[in-house]
Amino acid sequence: MPDIRLVRQWIATSSRVVALTGAGISTESGIPDFRGPQGVWTTNPKAERLSNIHSYMSDPEVRRLAWQSRLDHPAWRAAPNAGHRALVALERRGMLLAVVTQNIDGLHQQAGHAPDKVIEVHGTMRDVMCMACAWRGPMEPTLDRVRAGEDDPPCKRCGGILKSATISFGQSLEPDVINRALRAAGRADLLLAVGTSLQVYPVAGLVPLAKAAGARVVIVNAEPTPIDELADAVLREPIGEVLPAIVM
Ligand code: NAD
Repeated sequence: MPDIRLVRQWIATSSRVVALTGAGISTESGIPDFRGPQGVWTTNPKAERLSNIHSYMSDPEVRRLAWQSRLDHPAWRAAPNAGHRALVALERRGMLLAVVTQNIDGLHQQAGHAPDKVIEVHGTMRDVMCMACAWRGPMEPTLDRVRAGEDDPPCKRCGGILKSATISFGQSLEPDVINRALRAAGRADLLLAVGTSLQVYPVAGLVPLAKAAGARVVIVNAEPTPIDELADAVLREPIGEVLPAIVM
């Protein structure tokens, strides 16, 4: 298996890197992933219901719990870490085509990427939207309503159910957004998959797509993924150490 020095050389000679990131890039910022050893679902399987659109739309108790968990979400206190910053360094050197992220925490933008470089395929927890009239706005004023005692605040415009502007399980992806991600993966000369268990499709499919289009594939993830054998290199060290080492 190629070592870190070789991967660093590959990256240094690439001009169209696409990073595909998942929850694992934010664990070192204090935000737990879903499926890692300390993951939200690994430690509490019931938490999966909060991320399911059918439970959310049909069960007021699920919505009440979801609002409490949004209120307490560690992302509000989190700051980008060395892994996020390493990807910004790639952008500043003109080598980064896009960051396709499954994360909803907004830390890539906070780290300093140009907004058009970050493709959030699962949406963002920093906005709220109405499931009935599609009204959308920043999350904070709605969290203030929850703090003031509304445990399932309805849309002020139409009375509909509000939810974070994220893609829950059972919800369709935004066609424009996933198409941008597919186009970027098809143009990449190196695809860097970071901190993702590569179990959620169609996003995981960006890896074979990039490979088939001629890109090198590097996976940085502590645990094995179902598509490791497709990669030119798999690095299992902590992301906050390995990303700076391969991009700087
Ligand atoms: P996942 O939880 O399925 O997998 C994360 C992977 O990262 C695991 O395999 C774990 O071993 C690895 N990992 C964790 N910390 C690491 C570290 N420091 N160094 C190396 N590897 C590390 O995550 P996923 O594939 O992104 O899928 C989960 C879904 O949940 C996504 O769709 C995402 O939208 C959502 N999610 C987002 C956040 C966030 O925004 N920060 C957090 C939890 C879940």
